[in-house]
Amino acid sequence: MAQKIVAGNWKMNLGKEEKMELLKGLKLSDIPNDVNAIVFPTSLYISDLAKSLTKIEVGVQNFSNQNNGAFTGEISISQIKSVGATIGLIGHSERRAYYQENNAFLKSKVDHAINEQFKFIFCCGEPLSIRESGQEFLFVKNQLQESLFHLSAEEMMNGIIAYEPVWAIGTGVTASSEQAEDMHKSIRSWIEEKYTVEVANSVSILYGGSCKPSNAKELFACPNVDGGLIGGASLNASDFHAIINSF
Ligand code: PEP
Repeated sequence: MAQKIVAGNWKMNLGKEEKMELLKGLKLSDIPNDVNAIVFPTSLYISDLAKSLTKIEVGVQNFSNQNNGAFTGEISISQIKSVGATIGLIGHSERRAYYQENNAFLKSKVDHAINEQFKFIFCCGEPLSIRESGQEFLFVKNQLQESLFHLSAEEMMNGIIAYEPVWAIGTGVTASSEQAEDMHKSIRSWIEEKYTVEVANSVSILYGGSCKPSNAKELFACPNVDGGLIGGASLNASDFHAIINSF
């Protein structure tokens, strides 16, 4: 059974005190036991947040594909682990668009995370022009094939994928539950084709893109939606809390 996950991607928002306030407002004791809640703060604050949290995992928005050395501005997985982060994002559409992270580069991050035994959420999703041309399934399948589907069945087991249509990220336009379910179902069927039904059913497939309290219940009720990767709405404690409790 795929794990239910709700993850908040805080991006480059909030100072340290604001982050602490937000977490206080989340009423941590109300997080259902069968939901894995994760926050992705700015890396600078991981240490403080990880120390103060027990019911929420703390993750990193970006990490290097190298172990150590002359890579100015980068942070290694061992450095990240040493301050308490347990999971990283790979392939967020903003990293793809603004930092030219392509499928081949993302594959190197996937391989590095696997070697370092570091859990990750692999993000995929099509831009608007691709959806308008009816090529969204081909596009997303290609992202997965070029960066992720070279893993062994053992490495793929219990993996986490976030489907985030780029046209829905930060736009207020959410994919309908039918659009989300169609893509999630296809992703699971591609995993089954490539691996086995057991592997396919063990992978958590999250939806991301303007998910909010008003649409989370409907999205999370879809058979192949195992939770969400939440941007804007995770910056508001009561909205994020409501989304975490939307299963
Ligand atoms: C995201 O950036 O991963 C995201 C889903 O953002 P938003 O919820 O703001 O659309």
